[in-house]
Amino acid sequence: MANNILDERQCSISGVDQKGRGVACEKESVSGAVSQRACVYCGARVVLNPITDAYHIVHGPIGCASYTWDIRGSLTSGSETYRNSYSTDLRETDIVFGGAGKLTKAIDELAEKASPKLIFVYATCIVGVIGDDIEAVCRSAEERHGIRVVPVKAPGFSGTKTQGYKLACDAIMQLMLPHSGQPKQFGVNILGDYNLAGEMWIIKGYLEAIGIPVISTIAGDSSYGKLIRAPGAALNLVQCAGSSEYLAERMDGELGIPYIKVSFFGVEDTVASILRVADALGDPVLSANARDFAAKRTAEAMPFIEKYRPKLEGKRAAIFVGGGYKAISLIRQFNELGMKTVVVGTQTGKKDEYETIGALADKDTVILDDANPAELEQFMLEKHADILVGGVKERPLAYKLGIPFCDHNHERKHPLAGFEGIENFISEINLSINSPVWGYVRGCEEIG
Ligand code: SF4
Repeated sequence: MANNILDERQCSISGVDQKGRGVACEKESVSGAVSQRACVYCGARVVLNPITDAYHIVHGPIGCASYTWDIRGSLTSGSETYRNSYSTDLRETDIVFGGAGKLTKAIDELAEKASPKLIFVYATCIVGVIGDDIEAVCRSAEERHGIRVVPVKAPGFSGTKTQGYKLACDAIMQLMLPHSGQPKQFGVNILGDYNLAGEMWIIKGYLEAIGIPVISTIAGDSSYGKLIRAPGAALNLVQCAGSSEYLAERMDGELGIPYIKVSFFGVEDTVASILRVADALGDPVLSANARDFAAKRTAEAMPFIEKYRPKLEGKRAAIFVGGGYKAISLIRQFNELGMKTVVVGTQTGKKDEYETIGALADKDTVILDDANPAELEQFMLEKHADILVGGVKERPLAYKLGIPFCDHNHERKHPLAGFEGIENFISEINLSINSPVWGYVRGCEEIG
């Protein structure tokens, strides 16, 4: 292993020398390693923010509130409320004397001016330190205003981003549990899809075309009214397992709704997921519809894939994304294009996901959990990556190294899921890798 990897990080990286040893994951970030991971509060906000008619009060300094809709472009078919962000803007005197009074005033003001149905209150780092009792504040606000005010105790220092996902799932359960007694109906919930660039609408369209109604979506394009209908569904589909498998497990145990994991990235996973959903519902007509639908859409997609495959075959990809399930789909998608994944990592991947990644990847592929920029830089250069697929924090890293980049995270403006997404993904990978600009960049380097 190369020498600019911290000793404490070696166990989270599997390369040529350490193949078969497994990748240490689901651990706190190593101090001083400048992790690419977001904090606990961000993990919670990322899941809850797409609830379109919810108000989000960030109890903390104004800096924590910079996480807004702008950096997670999930789309809505209803309310636009979620595009606003509210903060108690805690200052020095609040830290000394306590901020609970300021939070009470903020909730009361919002209740008076906006008539909300649902408010989330996030406790950030400093609130965890000074110990404001946000649960008591939220409870008394619920009684005063007759609305749901849900505390999310998410100080950034209290764990990893995964802990934030769990807190968000617990908050959603708090909303659903009072409605657990409703009659069951035929249909599914989609969990862990955030309707980025309308992706959830694409998947919903596929299911409806096959004859499967969607009862509720969590949290893309959801609302308080839609969320509380979720306990009535027959099956949960978990798209982003990293953020939502815990919610699915709780809904299975406490609401009696079984779940299956799905992924709609790439032909192989999209087709497999469509068939699995239909089969899980146990109706042969739905299964036959699903097979027909998948065969038709695959046949339509293949000429496009075949057209671009010669331009991409043999290229080398690096992947660094949030969850393991997406990384797995991306490796398969690159395989479909004849590309080789040379580096693959995630922020919050789980042990079983890394095992699947290990089985799919080549022997010499570098697999790493919770990477930092120095590691990504080193391995992308060592492995001669032709493109990096990642998110907003990885983009400048790739560009500074003169490596093409594909955004597969919150900010993108075009869907990458489903058959529509397959065409967008291939177009973007081709445009980025084969852009003449990289020739100029490398030319400048040689001259410089
Ligand atoms: S780490 Fe703490 S201070 Fe920083 S954004 Fe997260 S909650 Fe706020």
